[in-house]
Amino acid sequence: MKRPSILVLGAGYGGLTTVVNLQKVLGTDAADITLINKNEYHYESTWLHEAAAGTLLPEQVRYDIKDVIDGVKVKFVQATVEAIDVVGKKVSTDNGEFTYDYIVIALGFEGETFGIEGLDKYALSIANVKAARYIREHIEFQFASWSTDAVKDDSRLTIIVGGAGFTGIEFLGELANRVPELCKEYDVPREKVRVVCVEAAPMVLPGFDPELVNYAVGHLESKGIEFSIGTPVVEATPEGVKIKKGDEEFEFIKAGTVVWAAGIRGNRLIESTPIENMRARVKVEKDLRAPGYDDVFIIGDCALMINPETNRPFPPTAQIAMQQGESVAKNLKALMNNETTIEFTPDLKGTVCSLGDADAIGVVFGKKVTGKRASFMKKMIDNRALLMIGGPMLVMKKGKFNVLK
Ligand code: FAD
Repeated sequence: MKRPSILVLGAGYGGLTTVVNLQKVLGTDAADITLINKNEYHYESTWLHEAAAGTLLPEQVRYDIKDVIDGVKVKFVQATVEAIDVVGKKVSTDNGEFTYDYIVIALGFEGETFGIEGLDKYALSIANVKAARYIREHIEFQFASWSTDAVKDDSRLTIIVGGAGFTGIEFLGELANRVPELCKEYDVPREKVRVVCVEAAPMVLPGFDPELVNYAVGHLESKGIEFSIGTPVVEATPEGVKIKKGDEEFEFIKAGTVVWAAGIRGNRLIESTPIENMRARVKVEKDLRAPGYDDVFIIGDCALMINPETNRPFPPTAQIAMQQGESVAKNLKALMNNETTIEFTPDLKGTVCSLGDADAIGVVFGKKVTGKRASFMKKMIDNRALLMIGGPMLVMKKGKFNVLK
């Protein structure tokens, strides 16, 4: 009898966890498992703000997929997915076509600019490891140019960060540490540099405890970060951004760098399938299958689940993507054994938002944490993700051990 074929698209947190768990729960001959990913490496999306600010090397953020999968049980194909045909059960890539009996779509997130004029063209987005490297080099180029320009334009040294949500704040935390280093390296007086966070909503870090938010804002302001809250970006141009400050009042901030960290959506490939979706995120069934498609699982940032306690979607996180990967592996095994699938419920252990390398805020197991303790926990969370996917060897190779800073 032909073995069922399982296709996993994307080797991020969700896809890799699925595959690593399939390796555990399925015997060698139980299925043909193929993992398809754009690059031959996985990158830690949750560390991208560090690579973008230049506080961590891009190489440190990624590792080879082949180092963490069992080549006997899983075939890895480096390819870019171009189309998913959930009716014909096939996937087209730049490296051939693949058919499947079961598919797991774990293609992650893309930036969302909500149609704001010029953002797509002129703002940078911390979307993947290559984009993070680009941002780092762009900022460094601005500093290097300023220091050699005969006629100096100080706006080169202004960095606008659009969005005071989780990603924006974590990026600002890294910039707060990186800017003094860049000033020293390129002979730039610190007072020439502006880092401005622009947020449309009336608050920073919506959903976070107000005491923790005050701590974060106080910490960042003490390091020279400016906040412009309740002032939506209405346009981006090659020179900077226009923000709305009142009913009829606008301000143009000239800037050499604009990084948009204010919104994400699912992978656009979802939108060209017949599966119902909202900004490429699919409201999945309780066992993580796509409505109407029993052989299609969707996890991670491409999936959307409503939190019954708040009646709002769970935020897209690596924590949930990895738990979903574990659950999908069990459900695939169940389907192959003609058993009932299990329902997925996120087990939320807490959230920690870093404020640079040595400070953070968070709520862990219901308790508020700040400062060095929170920063230590953040690093442990980062190391745990490595452990779950690649075991102790990967933690030794890529882990964060500068915990006593
Ligand atoms: P990803 O991990 O993004 O993986 C998607 C994979 O699909 C990638 O390997 C990509 O290369 C591949 N891919 C994409 N398109 C194609 C294609 N066409 N063909 C082939 N392969 C493709 N979450 C937390 O829980 N805690 C945090 O502290 C946290 N911090 C964050 C900080 C930043 C700066 C960012 C950007 C995100 C953060 N998140 C955090 C969110 C978290 O990173 C995401 O929720 C998580 O990465 C989602 O996992 P995923 O498997 O869906 O996608």
